[in-house]
Amino acid sequence: MRLVLIGPPGAGKGTQAKRLSQSFSVPHLSTGDLLREAVSKKTPLGKKAEPYISKGELVPDNIVLDIVEEKIRGSESGFILDGFPRNIEQARELDLCLERDGRKLDAVINIDIKEDTVVERLKNRLVCPKCGAILSVKDVSSTWICPRCKAKLKKRADDTEETIKNRIKVYMDYTLPLLDYYRKKGILIDIIGEGSPDEVFDRIVKSL
Ligand SMILES: [Zn+2]
Repeated sequence: MRLVLIGPPGAGKGTQAKRLSQSFSVPHLSTGDLLREAVSKKTPLGKKAEPYISKGELVPDNIVLDIVEEKIRGSESGFILDGFPRNIEQARELDLCLERDGRKLDAVINIDIKEDTVVERLKNRLVCPKCGAILSVKDVSSTWICPRCKAKLKKRADDTEETIKNRIKVYMDYTLPLLDYYRKKGILIDIIGEGSPDEVFDRIVKSL
């Protein structure tokens, strides 16, 4: 199974990718995680990426691409990509890389969700600085204590209504052409991202 997951911040992409990975026993490749792993293992590509990450800058396309390529080459069972490709150039490179091994993508899942829902979710999002749990203001008591490790939960600095709207706009600008690209290839599947993670997961599994 070779899948790509696309969706705006707050759509639950990471959550769904993890569940798909467990259900179908294929690795979940998140570009953020792969970059962090390459840096911590000090691989040749990790060493190239490190200066950008330490300065908080975007890692250039070609380095991200090489890291992704290395991983998907080594994965016989397939993969679930999350956070890549982010633009048409990367999508073409991914196709070329797969074609070289006589493979292709099975499907691209687009988690479609209303802007209001995303703003609402992210505005209410709380993260645990100690164990990394992600929760909603609605699911915890007013004291904001992590149910897992009892640390004090925090809001992320960039989860304000204004920055959320800006992040969605940036996402739309680079993603709409990408969706067209995959739609023309006939492999794009639109999934309604409203509702609980269970409901969204069921829709994805039924569509495959
Ligand atoms: Zn915690």
